[in-house]
Amino acid sequence: MIKSKAYAAQSSTSPLAPFEIHRRDPGPEDVQISILYCGVCHSDLHTARNEWKNTLYPSVPGHEIVGRVVAAGNKVRNIKVGDLAGVGCMIDSCGHCKPCHEGEEQYCEKGFTGTYNGPVFGGENTYGGYSQTIVVKESFVLRIKHDEKDLANVAPLLCAGITTYSPLRHWKTGPGKKVGIVGLGGLGHMGVKIAHAMGAHVVLFTSSPSKIDDGKRLGADEVCISSDTRQMEAYASKLDFILNTVAAPHNLDPFLQLLKLDGTMTLIGAPAEPHPSPEVFNLIFRRRQLAGSLIGGIRETQEMLDFCAHHNLVSDIELIRMDYINTAYERMLRSDVKYRFVIDMANFQ
Ligand code: NAP
Ligand code: ZN
Repeated sequence: MIKSKAYAAQSSTSPLAPFEIHRRDPGPEDVQISILYCGVCHSDLHTARNEWKNTLYPSVPGHEIVGRVVAAGNKVRNIKVGDLAGVGCMIDSCGHCKPCHEGEEQYCEKGFTGTYNGPVFGGENTYGGYSQTIVVKESFVLRIKHDEKDLANVAPLLCAGITTYSPLRHWKTGPGKKVGIVGLGGLGHMGVKIAHAMGAHVVLFTSSPSKIDDGKRLGADEVCISSDTRQMEAYASKLDFILNTVAAPHNLDPFLQLLKLDGTMTLIGAPAEPHPSPEVFNLIFRRRQLAGSLIGGIRETQEMLDFCAHHNLVSDIELIRMDYINTAYERMLRSDVKYRFVIDMANFQ
């Protein structure tokens, strides 16, 4: 067993604090990664505080992991000691069902194993990236082609990147498409960058007037303040697709009204309480669709990382120390981060 320092929440109301965990010794198909950086996703906060009512304690969050390979089993083929590597939201799945065969392990019929908080449909707890090292089987380890100097900024691609890339691909975003991104947080800012790189015309919908200039700098062609009814009306029935990243319950109807005939709004934000909508007439009159999407498969996560390396896309981050995490959570709740906190494990305290 390998000892690792970590940070854990012991209950829904206790702040994260130092905690020691153990990782298995790497087996023949395993890779051990010394974690260099870990992004801070809003899902980490939902989990640490048991907002989704499924948290196993102690809870060691973190699923935007990048680091260096320090050990590899003798059956590991595509990655070697010394390489940079990443781990996202999943570390295992059944491997036999149709979604697993099709590379969509996130929809595994038996439930994938989360990097933290264990198998989604029950089972033992797992510990995530707020730790010094992790052991993962090779088939769930990602290769990183970005320049090493950008490594901290690459970490958020492992969740925020793939969670936005996958639906943008699935709903065929690209040239000639008008795409709305709702919310400029960790997911939203990657959504803006990736949709722009795919060639779409991007409209950012934000509740924060202070983010207008950043939205444009990050790749939005237009920015709309979502609380301003007049600004919203200008987009009525104009959008092909909307990606909604908001982390809190809100009225979906003002956004549904912006979709064209056959347009889709896909929810990726996962608030703990339900949205107070939709109004069915906003769907039936233009055959609009309301959909959801969960992270992305391992093959697609590699495709996304390669796409981002090719287009020189990384996350805008604020680097923090591990012992800053509780303050970072409070700031994330106030949308006070541009646009992702990333923990620097070199300063693990
Ligand atoms: P985040 O960085 O906190 O960003 C959320 C953004 O939502 C905020 O920046 C804000 O943008 C907007 N917002 C508007 N009203 C809000 C309110 N009352 N409370 C909070 N945010 C509000 O969060 P994130 O890491 O991007 O995650 C967003 C959501 O996606 C979370 O619920 C997370 O659990 C979920 N998630 C889902 C998946 C999936 O697979 N579907 C994967 C990862 C995360 P503006 O200031 O621009 O309005
Ligand atoms: Zn996440």
